[in-house]
Amino acid sequence: MTAHMDRFAAAVEHHLGQKAVVTQPERLERLAVDESGEGPYPPLAAIYPTTPDQARACLALASEFRVPVTPRGAGTGKSGGALAVQGGVILGTERMARILDIDEADMVAVVEPGVITSVLQEEVESRGLFYPPDPSSLESCTIGGNLAENAGGPRAMKYGVTRRFILGAEVSLMDGTKMELGGRNLKDVSGYDLTSLMVGSEGTLALATRLQLRLLARPRTVGAVWASFPTFEAAGRAVSALLRSGLDLRCLELIDHASLTYGVLETSGLAAQGKAALLAEMDGWEEDMTPRLAEAGQVCEREGAVDVNLALDAASLRRLWSGRRHLSDALKKSHPHKLSEDVTVPVGRVGQMMSEAWAIGTRHDIEVAVYGHAGDGNLHVNFLPHSAGERQTVEQTAAAELIKTALDLGGTLSGEHGVGLTKRAWMVLRHGPEELSMMRRIKASWDPVGLLNPGKLLPSP
Ligand SMILES: Cc1cc2nc3c(=O)[nH]c(=O)nc-3n(C[C@H](O)[C@H](O)[C@H](O)COP(=O)(O)OP(=O)(O)OC[C@H]3O[C@@H](n4cnc5c(N)ncnc54)[C@H](O)[C@@H]3O)c2cc1C
Repeated sequence: MTAHMDRFAAAVEHHLGQKAVVTQPERLERLAVDESGEGPYPPLAAIYPTTPDQARACLALASEFRVPVTPRGAGTGKSGGALAVQGGVILGTERMARILDIDEADMVAVVEPGVITSVLQEEVESRGLFYPPDPSSLESCTIGGNLAENAGGPRAMKYGVTRRFILGAEVSLMDGTKMELGGRNLKDVSGYDLTSLMVGSEGTLALATRLQLRLLARPRTVGAVWASFPTFEAAGRAVSALLRSGLDLRCLELIDHASLTYGVLETSGLAAQGKAALLAEMDGWEEDMTPRLAEAGQVCEREGAVDVNLALDAASLRRLWSGRRHLSDALKKSHPHKLSEDVTVPVGRVGQMMSEAWAIGTRHDIEVAVYGHAGDGNLHVNFLPHSAGERQTVEQTAAAELIKTALDLGGTLSGEHGVGLTKRAWMVLRHGPEELSMMRRIKASWDPVGLLNPGKLLPSP
């Protein structure tokens, strides 16, 4: 560390205590990477505040010393958002991880940003309440990271993404200024919606230090259908039929043959019956569940499903979901250099996007595994290179073609993983110059010196 950084670290230690600052290279190593496959970008230090006041003090000192700060939750992000690409320090939220209040009357949870998503979900469900956003990483990612990425997940089809559940946030600007955005109201049209602006801002505008989350009543029962199809086309037809069936699905996941082979079947114990599978889930009243599930199964059979499994109890649901939930990890295990894209297209174009993804794989001679949230058009296209060098080539060729194709289909760069570092260069294709210029002015008004998570989201002018 330079003498300047030493002085900064000493100032932070003075305010936050010695334990708040980590500078040993071996302890910083894990912070040099996240789940994007980018890096390593080792930070000069990591700072772990335990209270919002400490977090604000840390940001104010970093402003004074002109030290870049990269907020970090659990580091499960897939677009490199939590990497300190311009050096400086990581501000980790793992010691701000308390559930402060669950107000059953207001149906609101107040939490610190480092709370793990599944921990909150289990806590509210034990009280008959429900926090729907369910990124597949929910057992490790944080609510602060979910806010910053506007995380989705399978249930976003029915309930919407994280933004719908953030009612308010206490945030700190880079200079340490505290702002209380939003509140507990379900309806609030007072002024510009800065709470929404904060959601999905990828740690580039402010640090979230406390969040107010909307809760729903826990659904009475949940059921799911797993259907295997002999061809991808048949699965695609079943997606359209299910979307129009009025069965009120909460999830509709489509999984291709490669994903089934590498990831799902072994974990879930399901037989390899077909070339594609659908996993549809619904919630509601006990009395309705069996007929609704049976009807969903019949819809799949009419479109050619060769094998239909229904799940009504917790153990069967866990079994059906186990493979899908751990698919990303399973693919990473079999293909450590995998490159995961997260394009989204209008729902009517999911089948076309999937076919294009495979065609791109064939053209560039790279294996592809595609799965994702067919119900909201968000596909995870995984290219499976065998080396770091091959990955780099794929990034510049097949992945680039995939993104351009998604945009041509009226889609977007990312449905849930964010822009971060990895999609930054593509922003100029997705957004016009006026919109990008407005985004830059917004960034400058929240963080005039550009010290908060620099090198992310916005492309260089
Ligand atoms: C196996 C796997 C499955 C996944 N499945 C899904 C999925 O289904 N849906 C989905 O949406 N994502 C998914 N993800 C991606 C990832 O888990 C989410 O983006 C998650 O929201 C990141 O949370 P985190 O705590 O790990 O954040 P990090 O990776 O630590 O950070 C992500 C971004 O948030 C910023 N940030 C973190 N905390 C704060 C804060 N308090 N204030 C301001 N900014 C902050 C960081 O600067 C960074 O830009 C998956 C990832 C993996 C590895």
